Amino acid sequence: MPKPARYADVSRWLQSSHRAAAVAAAVATAPGAWAATPLAVTQTAAGVYVHIGEVEDWAPAWRGDVANLGFVVGSRCVAVIDTGGTPAVGQALRAAIERATPLPVCYVINTHAHPDHMLGNEAFATPGAAAPTFVASARLPGTLAARAPYYLNALRRDFGLQTSAATIVYPTLKVESTAELDLGDRVLHLRAWPTAHTDNDLTVLDLRTRTLFTADLLFVQHLPVLDGSLRGWMSAMAELRRLDVATVVPGHGAVGTDWTAMMSAQADYLGALLSDTRRAIRQGWTIQQAIDRIAAPAAPGWRLTERFHRRNVTAAYAELEWEDDAAGSPTTPGASSAASGQRPVN
Ligand SMILES: [Zn+2]
Repeated sequence: MPKPARYADVSRWLQSSHRAAAVAAAVATAPGAWAATPLAVTQTAAGVYVHIGEVEDWAPAWRGDVANLGFVVGSRCVAVIDTGGTPAVGQALRAAIERATPLPVCYVINTHAHPDHMLGNEAFATPGAAAPTFVASARLPGTLAARAPYYLNALRRDFGLQTSAATIVYPTLKVESTAELDLGDRVLHLRAWPTAHTDNDLTVLDLRTRTLFTADLLFVQHLPVLDGSLRGWMSAMAELRRLDVATVVPGHGAVGTDWTAMMSAQADYLGALLSDTRRAIRQGWTIQQAIDRIAAPAAPGWRLTERFHRRNVTAAYAELEWEDDAAGSPTTPGASSAASGQRPVN
């Protein structure tokens, strides 16, 4: 899909007087001390705040504000869960936090290395003793290092932003399997998953309210995007289903409480992608034939199907092509895609 016409999009955006005022405020103050307009957040449970990003692609038309973000407030400090798709989105999230609580941010958690979830990190990377701890899967740094040049180039070329090496902020606390973060009278349980949506997915569960931030292991409304392992993702979903949670914050789309129902559309889509791609391989179709012939989901309601379905077929085919080799032992999940770092990812 062609990139949006960035100048036209930015121009349309600036026509909104509200947004123009926000830009003027940002430009009038020095970087690092922007008077950013706070992001809109909703308190979904006591001390749990969520910002719902646009269900759109990571593009200038949406200012990179296309992922769900959140923060959880303890008695001592605040944990941020994802920071948005540009440093400006991170500034606006920080402004929303400062409006909600005087407590400092002690942890900035990245659920995975996709740009729409983590390029706001720079806004929280204050120097000195006040610096928060950046937290992510132990597998995030390798994937991020491979993709950082692409991300920085996209910010400059498509968003017209100045960037530096400081725009990419790596975790200082790396989660191998699970971790607990104490915010003061409140504990977050973190879990790093085997390769699924990506090779570095990390979920966050607030134990007090049983609010689960799913990372992009769950897409709602936004067509699921495969950048790791289809079989790994389906295994992760089977485990996720068993969790006792009260409120679910997906990586994209609306917050909900009916965990099973929220999962069902994604399960149907990924299940069909698996069976259709396996059938294509059995029938000897080339990857191009599979891309051309495997139908997009019939179920209504998915957005961005045009943008991502063919890409998903490509990734699924690459993963499943050799799964029956070596006397039926499957290939390593994720070996085909996430590790390369070469494909543009949104
Ligand atoms: Zn993602």
